Amino acid sequence: MSNLSENGDKNKIKSLKLMLVGEAAVGKSSIMYRYTQNTFTYSMLGTAGIDFKKKDVVVDDTKIKIVLFDTAGHDRFRKIIKNHCRGANGIVIVYDVSEESSIEKLSNWMTDIQENADKDVELLLLGNKVDIAERKISEEQSKELSQRLNIPMLETSAKTGFNIEEAFDLIINNILKKEKFETEKTTENRETPVIQQKIVTKKKKEEGCQCLIF
Ligand code: GDP
Repeated sequence: MSNLSENGDKNKIKSLKLMLVGEAAVGKSSIMYRYTQNTFTYSMLGTAGIDFKKKDVVVDDTKIKIVLFDTAGHDRFRKIIKNHCRGANGIVIVYDVSEESSIEKLSNWMTDIQENADKDVELLLLGNKVDIAERKISEEQSKELSQRLNIPMLETSAKTGFNIEEAFDLIINNILKKEKFETEKTTENRETPVIQQKIVTKKKKEEGCQCLIF
């Protein structure tokens, strides 16, 4: 996936809303800044409720305007986050591999998403801070988590930039694949009655009926 400034067909524009959720201090804001501005700082100010940044990318000649929402992990902001889940095309659930407690409340996030997000929302799990040597959550545990929740997973580091671009490429491509599949399904469903109609009218004509063939 390339940056919009590099190339792109100016005629096609699409907009996707992505969200980062997860416990406080797992690295959501850092991931947002690494992805949108390629920067990292240890002294991040906590997110007050919700923040967002934009980034334009090009996929298969289509301009995609990414609006990436960063949310606060504290319980007091939960209502705002739930409201923002609606209309999101993709939600990235972040945990910290150096902090065991960061996966304890994953089921709460899953419940919030299931109750508030659109049914076809694309999900992605990110085990962040893999640059830290003293891990508390192994890659094996992350894979098990991914299988149990049936959500793709990647390990990342907002600090080094490891897998950050890849993570967003993955979720954006999965959203676009799903949309393409849905469009093809809708088109097929729309075409079926027409084809059947043609067969029926043709048959009737053969039987001597004065019906029109469409
Ligand atoms: P948020 O509350 O989930 O948005 O977390 P922040 O992005 O504010 O990050 C919390 C702390 O973790 C900050 O001090 C960050 O600099 C640090 N941090 C975030 N991502 C990483 C990472 O990948 N590796 C390391 N070592 N520290 C990180």
